[in-house]
Amino acid sequence: MVDLVTRAEWGARAPKGSYDTLHSTRGVKVHYTGGREDPRMVGDHDLCVARVRSIQRQHMDGNGWIDIGYTAVACWHRKVFVGRGLHHLPAANGAGLNSGHYAVLALVGNSGLVEPTDDLLLAIWDAIDWLRAEGGAGKEIKGHRDGYATDCPGGPLYAWVRKGAPRPGGGTRPADVDEKPATGRAPAWPGRLLAYPPMTVGDDVETWQAQMRRRGWSIAVDRMYGPDSRDVCRRFQAEKGLDVDGIVGPQTWRAAWEAPIT
Ligand SMILES: [Zn+2]
Ligand SMILES: [Zn+2]
Repeated sequence: MVDLVTRAEWGARAPKGSYDTLHSTRGVKVHYTGGREDPRMVGDHDLCVARVRSIQRQHMDGNGWIDIGYTAVACWHRKVFVGRGLHHLPAANGAGLNSGHYAVLALVGNSGLVEPTDDLLLAIWDAIDWLRAEGGAGKEIKGHRDGYATDCPGGPLYAWVRKGAPRPGGGTRPADVDEKPATGRAPAWPGRLLAYPPMTVGDDVETWQAQMRRRGWSIAVDRMYGPDSRDVCRRFQAEKGLDVDGIVGPQTWRAAWEAPIT
């Protein structure tokens, strides 16, 4: 159950204009503040409240936005501040990228507080669950830097996102992740290229997606090789020094099982 901090509770200013409506999104992008976050905040929720107010002030008075740019803010006390809220276009993902994903800020910085705690990661998950249940958010969990030139959400949070945003304490492993070891002998090459466009659909796509997920990539196991699968494929190929063509051919297929996980 999400522990929401309402706008009234955090003393939000009213927005200076009306929000654009979002019916649904592909998912959520995770952000950090990129500044210095006071370590005393971990022991004092009032400092979280003050920080969220200061971010709103900066976005409205500095950036000239109608409101804080984020959909929600996750704090160190497993609370979720309502930013722009459900079904409202955020402003924090970068121009042109806001309608695809809700924007969730974690109160993590690039100095002071840089390593997320379990409570903070759980707060991010509470925000995601809330946005999925009530805001039409899809399955994707990405970082601000996916598709935009920025350091955000910083090294530790981005590493977590790239591992598929594992929930601290486990328990709710996605049903489509099984317990097979993440590396080993590759199964036989299916004999066709997995590519997009057009969409490649089938058991072989599912086998590859499940394996990439087992390796820690954030990828839907939906039997459909579309733009998201291609994106994972390209990043994997770049990481492994393969030709970056976004196509799962024999080499990329084999590497998905046999290349070490880095
Ligand atoms: Zn960001
Ligand atoms: Zn707090």
